[in-house]
Amino acid sequence: MLLDLHTHSHFSDGELSPTALVTAAYQAGIDYLALTDHDSVSGIAEAKQAAKQISQPEKPLHIINGVEISANHQLSSSKQPMSVHIVGLGFTDMQMMQQELQKIQDQRESRAIEICKKIKEKLGLDIYNDVLTLADNPKAISRSHIAKELLNRGVVTKYQQAFDKYLTTGKVAYVPFNVPKMYQAIDMIHQAGGQAVLAHPTGYKLSAMNIRRLIGDFARLGGDAVELPAKKDSPATRGLIDRCAALHDLSVSVASDFHGAHMPWFKLGNVPKKRDDQTGVWEMFLSRSEKINKN
Ligand code: AMP
Ligand code: MN
Ligand code: MN
Ligand code: MN
Repeated sequence: MLLDLHTHSHFSDGELSPTALVTAAYQAGIDYLALTDHDSVSGIAEAKQAAKQISQPEKPLHIINGVEISANHQLSSSKQPMSVHIVGLGFTDMQMMQQELQKIQDQRESRAIEICKKIKEKLGLDIYNDVLTLADNPKAISRSHIAKELLNRGVVTKYQQAFDKYLTTGKVAYVPFNVPKMYQAIDMIHQAGGQAVLAHPTGYKLSAMNIRRLIGDFARLGGDAVELPAKKDSPATRGLIDRCAALHDLSVSVASDFHGAHMPWFKLGNVPKKRDDQTGVWEMFLSRSEKINKN
């Protein structure tokens, strides 16, 4: 059984429509797919419709309700809050989730305007309209759309450079993102009936000590699971996360973080395997409606 519980569509910074994503997922042999757009659940209905149409009776593709919530958290070792991503899975109260996400979407719009204002001041380029064309929706503008536009305009020669030179904390076009605290994101997911997963715990440029702190804080604040590191990551990285999950009694999630061809390092369905002694986060929400075999 193949699960991929963290993917993006063009309702956030992914390249594909939910229908195209579902088609690709089916071709990749995925049985359970969670669409987890940044701060948005707008693509889920289309994904479910597409899955219904494409599924053969002997090989159904199930769509799990999902979202990747932007949040802030301050580690005890740090003076500054850091940005973290909390994936919500299997929630049932879509209306409540949508209402809470609306506030973050409003922040996305005002932050994008501010970032583009700073870029205009520094570089003399007015990129907002083109960024909006890339994102389609002002409330879905991500820094990755802005990075893409800076690349399109030749301001940078590599996508990553846009972050390193302009968009990350302390750089000239950085604007703080006024989003919920980590515990609030966890509560929001629980109130909507879902499971809270700490996304890509090794993707925040933290030391091993701080990764341990972050996972410990996440567990104490009520989080349910951590994503396992990508297959390509070292055994040492995987060992770190396995030990933290065991120590804090967290479940694990398996995910590619697929975005599309513009981020070719994330491959749909290319997910790590959980160890036999670990509990898959999916066992909680899938057992509600359908008993499935253990992975
Ligand atoms: P946003 O949610 O708008 O702040 O954008 C966050 C997205 O930008 C993440 O999902 C990543 O895809 C990308 N991103 C954030 N920080 C970096 C970074 N330092 N280098 C490359 N990509 C980044
Ligand atoms: Mn993204
Ligand atoms: Mn993320
Ligand atoms: Mn993601």
